[in-house]
Amino acid sequence: MKHLGSNQTESIKRTIRETGLRATPARIATLNLLHAATSPLTHAEVSDELRDLSVDRATVFRNLNDLASVGLLRRTELGDRVWRFEWVAESGEHGSAHPHFVCVDCGTVSCMDEIKLTAGSMRMSQEFGEVTEIVLRGHCNDCG
Ligand SMILES: [Zn+2]
Ligand SMILES: [Zn+2]
Repeated sequence: MKHLGSNQTESIKRTIRETGLRATPARIATLNLLHAATSPLTHAEVSDELRDLSVDRATVFRNLNDLASVGLLRRTELGDRVWRFEWVAESGEHGSAHPHFVCVDCGTVSCMDEIKLTAGSMRMSQEFGEVTEIVLRGHCNDCG
C-alpha cells in the first residue's frame, strides 16, 4: 500500500465533511485505504486493514455503507453475494463505473478501468434494462 501524506488526509477530511458526514478517524482511514487500493475490497478485508486502529467490524461496516450512500464509495456485487467497496473519483482514473474481472480459481477481483461500453452498446443494453455491473470471469494470469 502506498504511503499517504497529510495533504491526502486533509483532502479526504474535507471530502467527507462536504457530504455532511462527520470526518471521524475511522472514516478517514477507510477512505484512505480504499483510495490507495487498486481493486474493490470486502468488509472483511477493510476490517483486517483497520484492525491496528482498533476499529471494530460493526463500525467498519456502518462506515462503508454510510460512505457509499453519500456517493464517496461504490458498492459492487460480483455474483458471489459479497459486497465490495471501491473509491469513486469525480473523473478520470477509476472514476466512472467499469467492468471487473473475477478469477474463478483464486477469486481475485481486478478493475478493468480501460474497458468501456461504447455509447452504441450502452443504448442497445437499455432495451434490456439498466446495467448496474459488468463482470468478466476467467482464469487470472497467476492461475493460468
Ligand atoms: Zn487467479
Ligand atoms: Zn473497480
